[in-house]
Amino acid sequence: MIEKSYVMVKPGFANHIEVINEIKKCIWALGLKIIKGEYVSYSPDLAKKHYAEHVGKDFYPKLEKYITSDVAYGMIVEGENAIAKIRRVVGSTKNPEKGTIRREMPKMIGREIDTTENVVHASDSQESAEKEIAIFEKLINSNEKI
Ligand code: ADP
Ligand code: MG
Repeated sequence: MIEKSYVMVKPGFANHIEVINEIKKCIWALGLKIIKGEYVSYSPDLAKKHYAEHVGKDFYPKLEKYITSDVAYGMIVEGENAIAKIRRVVGSTKNPEKGTIRREMPKMIGREIDTTENVVHASDSQESAEKEIAIFEKLINSNEKI
């Protein structure tokens, strides 16, 4: 099935063009299309909407502080089974597998692998993708007004 996924290069990585380019290459290598890519800055309000399922968890305050700390780079990706394909190359949240973006990309810029500052977000379902893309579009519009 042709799906859309939302992929977001997180703060501290989005300001490294070589990281963005490498992630784009991974997406293209999966046979997927990047139909939109923009730099955005998450506000606390839109961070809470994007990560609604985690608000109230012990790690949430740290996550919100991180995701709102600097510029991110959001992408809308489209193609056959886009959601599962991208999640596989992104890697797990804890102890990402060898060869995955979360495991390999921090080394590219001399950083440690970290559970919170883990390079990239990718949608986990069609429902999440729709919600996250709507937030991304909202951010593009609100950031443009600055
Ligand atoms: P994923 O991004 O792999 O879907 P989750 O949805 O579980 O992971 O969590 C969202 C984000 O919150 C993670 O990508 C990571 O940045 C952060 N996070 C998740 N679990 C933890 C944790 N136990 N400690 C610190 N940060 C976490
Ligand atoms: Mg998740």
